[in-house]
Amino acid sequence: MAVIGGGLAGMSTALRLAERGVVVVLLEAGYCGWAASSRNAGYLSNELAGEAEKLRALYGSKLRNLTQYAENSAHFTEGLIGKLGIDCDYEATGNIKAALNPAQLKRLRHNAEILRDAGADIEFGDGADLGLPSTFLGGIFIRGGGLMNPGKFTAGIRSTLLGSSARVFERTTALSVEANGSRVSVKVPGGHVDAERVVLATNANTRDLTAGPSNVAPVFTSVVETEPVDPGQLEAIGWTSRAGIVTPHQILENYRRTPRGTLLFGTRRLRGAPAALGAREPDRAVVNDLINGFHQRFPSLNYLGAERAWGGWVAMTSFLPVAGESEKNVFYAISCNGHGLAQSPYIGTLLADHLAGDEMHDDLKTLWRPNPPKVPAALLNTALFEAAWAFDRVTDRFRI
Ligand SMILES: Cc1cc2nc3c(=O)[nH]c(=O)nc-3n(C[C@H](O)[C@H](O)[C@H](O)COP(=O)(O)OP(=O)(O)OC[C@H]3O[C@@H](n4cnc5c(N)ncnc54)[C@H](O)[C@@H]3O)c2cc1C
Repeated sequence: MAVIGGGLAGMSTALRLAERGVVVVLLEAGYCGWAASSRNAGYLSNELAGEAEKLRALYGSKLRNLTQYAENSAHFTEGLIGKLGIDCDYEATGNIKAALNPAQLKRLRHNAEILRDAGADIEFGDGADLGLPSTFLGGIFIRGGGLMNPGKFTAGIRSTLLGSSARVFERTTALSVEANGSRVSVKVPGGHVDAERVVLATNANTRDLTAGPSNVAPVFTSVVETEPVDPGQLEAIGWTSRAGIVTPHQILENYRRTPRGTLLFGTRRLRGAPAALGAREPDRAVVNDLINGFHQRFPSLNYLGAERAWGGWVAMTSFLPVAGESEKNVFYAISCNGHGLAQSPYIGTLLADHLAGDEMHDDLKTLWRPNPPKVPAALLNTALFEAAWAFDRVTDRFRI
């Protein structure tokens, strides 16, 4: 068996296959974990991407299964941290979707009802009850999940993988994938890998492959970290919760505390990828806008310097992580839409169990498709993201 891509999805697939006694090779273009898996904001979330109301409109009664799947993902990945003994500063804080104005609060209250009907373990509360900084009025506390250091987590998975029977080839790009009857041939620089089955866990790069799902759009998302903050300053604005905070904008903002005593904030503005992915550093305009946003939300903390900024490519489908068999013996697992920290290890493991001969798990059945649902490219380009950003600023200004 061959796995292409050594992020959390690919590493978890290869690790489980090795545990199940399957001979497995993993090919990674860079260094295992170097892409989105280690460069994210560390929210281990049991939430799906997208607003509950939109998800219900798109997926109807399936929302209950999807909610269960997302919940199971967070439990699974929490368990994995414990099972492998990975020190990744994990705190089971839960996460909060928090409103900045009355209109957002009303929407969140409505979404909380939808989520509760779908079986989510949530609670609606006001800002003070939830320990939110005073800039937020209140919101949905999502009990499961929490926050971690994704770099440490990914490094822990990598070292477990390297200690397993899986054969890992880093700095080895899969150049093409060709399914021919009962075998799949993967071309790599200077040779090829001939496998019975191949798993594509290539996230944002999936679009560039010669095989696999075509409906995957790469989107660049960014994060900024401040210098350490005096905890007294956080208490002064009511920020007592350690849960991760996200806003319900069209393009979300996220704010969290870290065990280093710094604050991390991100997203707000996205970039599409018309051609090759290339960039690994965030756009300066995006970083400046994130800092401006932080100053607006937390005026009393605007003395804090931004120490670093980073970003990475995520893969967007239709709000959902997806997995399937895109052609005979070519499987894929793309835990995308910016929510893969909990979901990638879970999907990778479920897929490996299925490939090792188990009946397909119900959660995997929920996601399984020959191709991700098509998202029109026009919806995922920088111009449209800029329009969404402008719309969010209007809703901020007029509190609508
Ligand atoms: C800035 C940022 C913040 C985020 N915040 C969060 C968060 O707080 N919570 C959350 O749940 N999610 C978050 N995400 C999303 C999350 O990180 C991803 O959903 C998840 O890491 C996806 O894992 P993956 O294994 O599918 O992909 P990746 O980690 O991107 O791994 C894919 C791997 O495939 C390799 N590859 C691609 N093509 C080839 C090829 N042809 N040959 C060989 N190798 C190849 C790449 O080099 C890469 O290592 C964030 C992402 C970013 C960028």
